[in-house]
Amino acid sequence: LLRMADEAMYRAKRAEKDGLDPHAEELAAELGDAVRAGQLRVHYQPIATLPDGRIVGVEALVRWAHPVRGEVPPLSFIPLAEETGAIREIGAWVLEQACRQVAAWHAAGHSLHLAVNVSPRQLVPGLAERVFAVLDDSGLPYRDLIVEVTESVRVEDPVAVEELRKLHKRGIRIALDDFGTGYSTLRYLTALPVDILKIDRSFVAKLDGTPEGAAVAETVLRLSQMMHLETVAEGVESPGQAAELAGLGCVNAQGYHFARPMAADEVSDLLTEQNPASV
Ligand code: C2E
Ligand code: MG
Ligand code: MG
Ligand code: MG
Repeated sequence: LLRMADEAMYRAKRAEKDGLDPHAEELAAELGDAVRAGQLRVHYQPIATLPDGRIVGVEALVRWAHPVRGEVPPLSFIPLAEETGAIREIGAWVLEQACRQVAAWHAAGHSLHLAVNVSPRQLVPGLAERVFAVLDDSGLPYRDLIVEVTESVRVEDPVAVEELRKLHKRGIRIALDDFGTGYSTLRYLTALPVDILKIDRSFVAKLDGTPEGAAVAETVLRLSQMMHLETVAEGVESPGQAAELAGLGCVNAQGYHFARPMAADEVSDLLTEQNPASV
């Protein structure tokens, strides 16, 4: 018993030193079953137009309702799922749920696009075909799906690039998430078939009415215009930030100022408020 306690202590200390969740190993083992056990949920965060705040899309964000630990945030389990490979099953499940949900909103008279996060480990042969199959099944039009990838996709990986090209060729849009936070940000723009840049919330947080504060957001917006890309500002938390972004010509935004990620029912209520003529 003592030895076990010792080991547990040692592991906890090491995990702390490495900046990992001390329960990482346990969580990783449980993750494999989380999908099958029905412990995952998809929440949706509205994406709005500036300056009026009209909802034009949603981003699907996975949630894990752990039976013992309560809600585990994605930042604690997505990296684990990427390590173990469970992200493929999780990603496939999220995509299916979200496509069905957004197709249902379409059927109720709301026009809306869907953004789904895709990890580098999901970009393997056959991914594009599986995405097409899910879209065909759900009836969601290809033009209404946005695949969000971060700069952790390796541009030297021909398979990843090829899968993204296949998606792009069929009209699915590719967004670079957290844009500007990676190591070779500008390289991604020519190496990947990009349609949308998402201005990382760290740059939105710097908006303070000064030219220096706006420098990065403004540069991303100009770059987007020159390359005929769309832009979405992430993490907009205040009316001041929304106004400043609108002034810089930013058309789409997402953040607590508009709405938090929420269950589908709550999004339905917002959509009905916005569009009372819907069924
Ligand atoms: P992300 O794709 O950049 O998603 C945006 C994150 O910012 C979400 O965190 C959202 O709740 C948060 N956020 C939105 N508005 C605001 C705001 O105004 N202020 C602040 N401080 N935060 C805001 P969340 O849901 O915790 O997800 C974190 C990350 O986990 C996501 O970042 C994404 O990288 C990953 N993730 C979530 N769901 C999935 C998924 O289904 N698949 C994959 N591969 N990754 C996912
Ligand atoms: Mg995202
Ligand atoms: Mg993001
Ligand atoms: Mg982000």
